[in-house]
Amino acid sequence: MPLIVNLRHLEEHNVTLCGELSVDELDLDTGDEMVRVAQPLRYEIEVQKLEDSLLVRGSLRLTLACGCVRCLKSFTRELELKAWTCHLPFEGEDRVAVNNDCVDLTPFAREDMLLEFPQHPLCKPDCAGLKKKSKVQKADGLEKLKPSAWSELDKLKL
Ligand SMILES: [Zn+2]
Repeated sequence: MPLIVNLRHLEEHNVTLCGELSVDELDLDTGDEMVRVAQPLRYEIEVQKLEDSLLVRGSLRLTLACGCVRCLKSFTRELELKAWTCHLPFEGEDRVAVNNDCVDLTPFAREDMLLEFPQHPLCKPDCAGLKKKSKVQKADGLEKLKPSAWSELDKLKL
């Protein structure tokens, strides 16, 4: 079910939309093979018509199928925007597209959800990866060579 609100339905009172946006409808290209959208996006939102804009508030939930960038294990991650807010003006440069009195909210949900995607998905925050031993040895070797450079890097991370 597309995430579309009819402006005429908003004349008298707010509209609540509750449902799912299929993977196809969401059509979210992550550009990252380690992160895929595997299930529909679930939404529960309230749309309010203000004088010259639409106000959308509610929650968006999406389950991602991820691959850990360190150990390559597959896992799922729940993303949730509990207090999603979207303000869509009818006038000006950023005005929202209206077709037959309807506004498609899908692009805005897609965009804001995408911002929540993990950049470097890890199965757990301290995943040690596939080759823990050799990595540690490597790091030790480098540390002996350039101790000052590594401590400078550590300072930067803080
Ligand atoms: Zn991992």
